[in-house]
Amino acid sequence: MARILVVEDNAVNMRLASIMLTRSGHEVLGAENAMDGIRLAQAHRPDVILMDIQLPDLDGFEATRRLKQDAATMSIPIIAVTAHAMRGDESRLKAAGCDGYLAKPYRRAELLEAIGAWLQPAAQSRAGAAIT
Ligand code: MN
Repeated sequence: MARILVVEDNAVNMRLASIMLTRSGHEVLGAENAMDGIRLAQAHRPDVILMDIQLPDLDGFEATRRLKQDAATMSIPIIAVTAHAMRGDESRLKAAGCDGYLAKPYRRAELLEAIGAWLQPAAQSRAGAAIT
């Protein structure tokens, strides 16, 4: 089990992500805007952050830059969750510090693949412990 922070302002998208992740055994923290997301990341040190790009306060690029500049959160992998129109914008996401990206809409398998690549050994061993 991993702790996943979902930063997403759309209630339907948030609910879908939350259901997919909790059904896969993960703990989900949710933030509806970038500043709440940054605060939750600092307070709870999630294993992975799913970062929507279009948010009501800061955009996901700026939120990612701030998280990657903070020693407390810089090592947390950030997966940008982008609209179809932003496919191909990988270089801008990387420049902001994103570690990966996932295009919306996505299926559960795609979501799990995107986060699985970035789970820390500690999170993976917790998952292994839960199985046995
Ligand atoms: Mn959004």
